[in-house]
Amino acid sequence: MRGSLHSIGQQLLGPPGRRRMRVQQTLLGMPALLLMQILLLVEHRVSGAALGELGWYAAITWSGCAVFYGLVRSGWSERLSAEASLSLPQMAFAMGCVAWAYWLAGPLRPALLLLMPLTLSFGVFALDDRRVRTLSALGIVGVGGVVALRLPAQAAWPDVALDLSMWLFTAVTLASIGVLARRLARMRERLRAQKSELRDALERIQLLATRDALTGLLNRRAMMEQLQTLARSRQPMTLALADLDRFKQINDEHGHAVGDRVLQAFGQRAQQMFGESGLVARWGGEEFLFAMPHADETLLRMLLEQLRSTLAGSAHEGLPVSVRIGFSAGVARCHALTDLEEAIERADQAMYRAKVAGRGCTSSLAVVQDPAREPA
Ligand code: GH3
Ligand code: MG
Ligand code: MG
Repeated sequence: MRGSLHSIGQQLLGPPGRRRMRVQQTLLGMPALLLMQILLLVEHRVSGAALGELGWYAAITWSGCAVFYGLVRSGWSERLSAEASLSLPQMAFAMGCVAWAYWLAGPLRPALLLLMPLTLSFGVFALDDRRVRTLSALGIVGVGGVVALRLPAQAAWPDVALDLSMWLFTAVTLASIGVLARRLARMRERLRAQKSELRDALERIQLLATRDALTGLLNRRAMMEQLQTLARSRQPMTLALADLDRFKQINDEHGHAVGDRVLQAFGQRAQQMFGESGLVARWGGEEFLFAMPHADETLLRMLLEQLRSTLAGSAHEGLPVSVRIGFSAGVARCHALTDLEEAIERADQAMYRAKVAGRGCTSSLAVVQDPAREPA
């Protein structure tokens, strides 16, 4: 029994997801509609009046509900409207049903009007504030119209007073909900703006934490993280550590600012050359680390030579044309995470080997044992 009820429920709601949530929202108003009709029926039974218009009321309201349910459950609402939940027409319809019920009801009618603000309060979450205010105005005018239509038939003064005060209280409540919706919309706007500011700040922090401020290349920490990720996935890679030759001399003779610009120019060219197929980082001072996943030493050496000749062939702002920027580099292979630190160390040693060998060249440790470091 429980199983079959569950499967009927599943059929009614449809598969889990956004559409199911919309279906649930559509079904939400039905108990209230049922309650209204029970109340109307009880009143008619008590007063002994003919069912007449009540039958029409039931037929039209349930047909409307069935249409909304069918549109939402079948997914047609997604094709028909940008707002697939059809919240606005559903709420306008629900408020219309309440106003009509008020027209039909007898002494119990004040209870029905509670459903007006209840319906609109759902709109505060589902609709933008402009639409909530439109619905609020529709509700005020709708109830006002029904009350006005009832007036000629009212025989006793208390009935007139009851209807007018019911309209007044409903109007005040609906208008207040409209004001609340406006406030909520402003709050949402502020939250949205704060969220976007936070996102920007986070992006900036991430940039500052991972990039070198002078060259814009990856910094040492970010490079190490990327290399660890690559090494962890067992991607073999070739590393190269490059150190600008006689850089202190550039600083001493032409100034630190010119030295900075040389570092920037080197970083830019290195990124252009290696950026697509590998990684480049400012490893520290005038040292740069290159990594090329999958590539062999020959390819890396070839790219380093290209970089070398590009640098040698370019003039640098603030430097005489005769001054050429060169670098020495050391190459090493890395096969696994456990090998990473050691591979960087081997590249470093190989780089010093290139310095010893006269600078402006690339070396690898395969042919080197304990290279002597050149004295400063
Ligand atoms: P070698 O060929 O042996 O590498 O000689 P070198 O002069 O390049 O090496 P040394 O280690 O003696 O000097 C490195 C210089 O790099 C010293 C330091 O002032 C300079 N340097 C490090 N970081 C920066 C920087 O951010 N900007 C500038 N302008 N210079 C820097
Ligand atoms: Mg150095
Ligand atoms: Mg140097």
